Amino acid sequence: MKKTKKEKPYRSTANNFIWSSKLQLKYAPLGFVIRIFGIPVGVALSYCSIYLPALIVKQAVSGNTFADVALAIGSFFIIQMLLSQLKEGFMVRYIGAMDARFNYAVQYLINERSLTRPYEEYEKKEIRDLRHRAMSATQYNTGVGDFSERACYMVEYVLSYVLFGGIIASFSPWMLPLIMLEPILSLICTRAYQRWCHKHREYESNLSSKLGYAEELPDDFTAGKDIRVYGMSGWLQNTYHGLVNEINAWERKKASRSFVSGFTSLVVILLRDSLAYAFLIGMAINKQISVDEFVLYFAAISQCASFFGAILNTWGGLHASSLRVCDIRKFIEDDVSVSYGNEKADAHLMRVPEIEFVNVSYRYDGSDTDVLKNINLKIKAGESLALVGLNGAGKTTLVKLLCGLYRPTGGQILINGTPSDSFALKEYYRLFSPVFQDSKTAFFTIAETVSGDLDGNYDVSRVENCLKRVGLGNKLDTLPKGINTVLDKQVDSEGTNLSGGEMQKLMMARALYKNAPVLILDEPTAALDPIAESKIYEEYQNMTKGKTSLFISHRLASTRFCDKVVYMEDGQITEIGTHEELLALGKEYSRLYEMQSCWYRDDYGRENNI
Ligand code: ADP
Repeated sequence: MKKTKKEKPYRSTANNFIWSSKLQLKYAPLGFVIRIFGIPVGVALSYCSIYLPALIVKQAVSGNTFADVALAIGSFFIIQMLLSQLKEGFMVRYIGAMDARFNYAVQYLINERSLTRPYEEYEKKEIRDLRHRAMSATQYNTGVGDFSERACYMVEYVLSYVLFGGIIASFSPWMLPLIMLEPILSLICTRAYQRWCHKHREYESNLSSKLGYAEELPDDFTAGKDIRVYGMSGWLQNTYHGLVNEINAWERKKASRSFVSGFTSLVVILLRDSLAYAFLIGMAINKQISVDEFVLYFAAISQCASFFGAILNTWGGLHASSLRVCDIRKFIEDDVSVSYGNEKADAHLMRVPEIEFVNVSYRYDGSDTDVLKNINLKIKAGESLALVGLNGAGKTTLVKLLCGLYRPTGGQILINGTPSDSFALKEYYRLFSPVFQDSKTAFFTIAETVSGDLDGNYDVSRVENCLKRVGLGNKLDTLPKGINTVLDKQVDSEGTNLSGGEMQKLMMARALYKNAPVLILDEPTAALDPIAESKIYEEYQNMTKGKTSLFISHRLASTRFCDKVVYMEDGQITEIGTHEELLALGKEYSRLYEMQSCWYRDDYGRENNI
């Protein structure tokens, strides 16, 4: 079999440790300090655990009075109990809370990066998989907090090992290498298992993403209608069942690998203990060591071996934690392949912009053909342009390019003569008020959604005015909490769920409130009833006043409201002119118009002017 080249981690373990510690000091400093303080406490506790049995034996054979024996053993016992309470009670609980806080902080950073990543990048599967892995790395118990925990345990184990090793070496130095044999073997097995898991992590993460998707679908109201009416529940359950079977098979495979690794260690431990204890018993029989020394050394041997094992395991664990931190850092730090300029939007917000597409082409990632081919188009300042064409012609892609969600793979888009990629992305978005075909609202109030302001600093009358302009005035009157109604009935019992048409109107109100100099409406009337649609057409002249606008519609009659009509076919502009000019041209636009308008004529051939 061909040997694959070993993948180099994104960052080294030491580098990840520093990164993670800095972050922990920033977000949960007390947890970090308590952990450091826990190191000497842990070493002292380990020593107590082997010394107490030896002390009891020593006191028992010392011939001291009962009161002296009770005082010596009792005071030692109390110290041990206090230390144990400090470490296992207070510290562990407090650190648990701090770790949860730290994990949330890292999750916040991951979410922040998700939201600020260019849309085009974020749409890619590998980026979404990377986010999934980064989020999994923050899950409790395997989270990033365990990096510093493991590092502190490492120091504690090393110190304990030195202490216990010293005790053993004081009676038999050659015993040390013997008790190291088992942990070394155990580490080799564990590392092999961890490497195998890491190699298959993409498969595992893919499986759990699919399962997550299949688990969420039954809870999705949007999908729920189609699932029921189109009888997809059986298919969904089969898919879910298939995925669960695949995950179970995978877990079984993991468990058997882990079992082989654990069983090998167990056999070696048995061998080691038999040898070491035989030697110790021989020394006791020959009176080379006293009874209490026998008890002390006996405990020291098994503890020392377990410390050495723990050091090696923790080293392996640190490596595993480091790989998880790599996934997080890769997602957070990974620089996107595209760079943006730093042009500000302010100057462009003061005037009505002119937009020009110069030889613009676009190809989706992974595709081998261009979706847009050499688009050359000038939209004059204040002009209102209608974009029409059959499904898949490339209209939405063109809008997404204009809004800065995608970047042209060829040519450029100029705003007042300035190339779109010389703007800072956040600034560029300020220029546009788009209404997309599909939008999703979150559990915010109507006012917050329309204004995009969650701090309550929005202009109440402007919000209400925008809602009235798009025809949502009557709806508002029916809501007891008006614009303060939450847009999700599942989250707030006094909230509301909007219909498709109402949602489209709400998105239009949001675009009006933003009042950006470029207004883009992608199929704005698709879900509206005839009255609402005609209200939008009436309002359209007002909406676009003092703006450059782009209007995508299937309803060809609606293009009459626009200054210019652009007809697209297969990613190219094939016709351009006013509605009347394109009708006179007698090509594809006029053919489609004819086809559509025939349904609105009465039996006598009169147009019903819809
Ligand atoms: P329109 O809005 O004119 O209906 P679109 O711009 O949505 O057309 O789509 C144009 C073409 O690009 C279609 O063939 C569609 O399948 C393809 N397409 C759209 N979005 C993506 C995407 N995210 N990835 C790959 N191909 C896409």
